[in-house]
Amino acid sequence: MNKILNNEMILNWLYLDLNSYFASVEQQLQPKLQNKPVAIVPTMTDATCAIAASYEAKAYGVKTGTMIYEAKKLCPEIICVQANHENYVMYHHKILAEIDKYIPIEIISSIDEVACKLIGSQKNEAQARKIAKNIKIGIQENIGQYIRCSIGIAPNRFLAKTASNLEKPDGLQVLYSKDIPDSIKHFKLSDLTGIGRAMEYRLNKSGILSIQELYNISPKHMRKIWGNVQGEKFWYMLRGKEIADIKTERKTIGHSHVLEPKWRLVELAEKVMLRLLLKATSRLRRMDYYCSRLSLSIRTENNLRLEGKSRFYRACDNKKLQEEATKIWVQLIKKRNFKQIKKISITLYNLKKKSDLQPELFQNFNKKITLDTNRFEKLSKTMDNINTRFGRDSVTIGGLPNKIKSFSGTRIAFTRIPDRQEFNE
Ligand SMILES: [Mg+2]
Repeated sequence: MNKILNNEMILNWLYLDLNSYFASVEQQLQPKLQNKPVAIVPTMTDATCAIAASYEAKAYGVKTGTMIYEAKKLCPEIICVQANHENYVMYHHKILAEIDKYIPIEIISSIDEVACKLIGSQKNEAQARKIAKNIKIGIQENIGQYIRCSIGIAPNRFLAKTASNLEKPDGLQVLYSKDIPDSIKHFKLSDLTGIGRAMEYRLNKSGILSIQELYNISPKHMRKIWGNVQGEKFWYMLRGKEIADIKTERKTIGHSHVLEPKWRLVELAEKVMLRLLLKATSRLRRMDYYCSRLSLSIRTENNLRLEGKSRFYRACDNKKLQEEATKIWVQLIKKRNFKQIKKISITLYNLKKKSDLQPELFQNFNKKITLDTNRFEKLSKTMDNINTRFGRDSVTIGGLPNKIKSFSGTRIAFTRIPDRQEFNE
């Protein structure tokens, strides 16, 4: 059952959406593109579509998904730029670090959207607006003047995202529950997160054509149209309720291990850490979850406890999580001068059931990242299957030294991540 928390006049979330993200990054990096209509394309051909368009291009009616031959008709002077995902990922991290100066990021929704939880006095509208303004100024001054964002502030994450769509570019809007549906009446049904084309069609078929009509139907009716509890949830989300899922919802997956004296040297302990991580990651996959946060803590020989955390776009593959854990590890080890580690704990959290995920908003934008992720997820699953069949650590990533074989029983170790096909060769 869902626990509904009441919060009529409260603001709980700040949602930030970067405007025309890929195009803005290109404009920031390449002065010749500044103030010009730009379309970002996956390949340099007219037979592809824009995966992003600058505001100057949008003024001509070019948007994400517009075919380039069409875009050239709409705007003959449009400049096509081949997508450079490395740059977008690099800026993503820079922007996250900037936002983090003003408020911690709770959820990274996509490469260009994040959600932050308001706490204490931040729930006050004036305070929340101040944070939003500081973020905007910070991004302009420290990241680049072409990088702009729209920020929405609201009682729940859904409405905060909706509020971020109210004003573009460079928007800042606050939505209270009482403003619904009036303030969003002009949106199409499919402008709302969670209503895709297929759902819009189903709603239309049930005679619901507008936001007002959607707002007027009962939770039961919504459930019927959706065909599952998600419909009922939507009714509450639309009213600004925070829905905390308390149905046996798992919050974390963790493993900790007290090291035997012979494994306590930092270099060996790192291998044990990776082993624990792979164990947690494989559990994560078995339960069909993604996580978007990882924490790693160690207790040293002199009982010092050090902890590091990392946030990332949701993942469940060994490669991504290993990279994140290794990053934290390196930072922790650098921090103090110690030689031995007694205990290691790893926790994966911000878990999200795969079946609960909303359709990817940035599928097209993120093709390369998505492809890579799929590839690594599949590889990780293959490893799980082999390990289930032949015993723990039959296959693993990276070498585990002979000395700790007894700890984890390695038989085969890859020193790099092989392509999936190699399993068949
Ligand atoms: Mg955006």
